[in-house]
Amino acid sequence: MTDKTITIDVRKDLFGANEEAAAINASIFEQHGIRAIDVMGSVGTGKTMLIETLCERLADKYRILMVAGDLATTIDADRVASHGVDTVQINTQTACHLDARMVRVALKKVDLSKYDLVFIENVGNLICPAGYPLGAEKKIVVVSITEGPYMIRKHPLTIKRSDMVVINKVDLAEALEFDVDSLVRDIREIDATLPVVRVSAKTGEGVDELIRVLDL
Ligand code: MG
Ligand code: ZN
Repeated sequence: MTDKTITIDVRKDLFGANEEAAAINASIFEQHGIRAIDVMGSVGTGKTMLIETLCERLADKYRILMVAGDLATTIDADRVASHGVDTVQINTQTACHLDARMVRVALKKVDLSKYDLVFIENVGNLICPAGYPLGAEKKIVVVSITEGPYMIRKHPLTIKRSDMVVINKVDLAEALEFDVDSLVRDIREIDATLPVVRVSAKTGEGVDELIRVLDL
């Protein structure tokens, strides 16, 4: 760190209000017997395709709702809806993450008695979503090998605050001469025991393992 580096202290009251709203969401999910999973990751890591694949595999077992966070579009929600899954869209406009209150507003729009599993696709961004719990039982981070080798090392806090890392697009590793093990080693430097699952949402490789680790 040089003497020109400035560390910004984020206002704690903002996070405090979010934690309260997240606790309310968690109790709403619990009342309805719903399991909720917050899916975080940069734009283009394959969060939506992963949710689509999970919805396909789990459609017989769970009644699924997808809550889609996006700055401006409904592209992701439309894709998941094309699999017959109900969706709610949250357009955050300028906010680069979902917060718990936005999710609560979205949940009010649906009949929660109709669902037992909720996937929340967070806004594509690997930095602040991890600082805003939404009341989900698990926060998973999706990284992909097309983002280059430094995604883990550059986002240590996000990794620390997550419950699992999914390394997506492993089907491309050979063609890109990408060392997937190096990403796992970077994760291990941050957290020695965090579950890490290697998948290809496209080919389906590793998805059964992901479902097992998510206990779904
Ligand atoms: Mg997406
Ligand atoms: Zn943000």
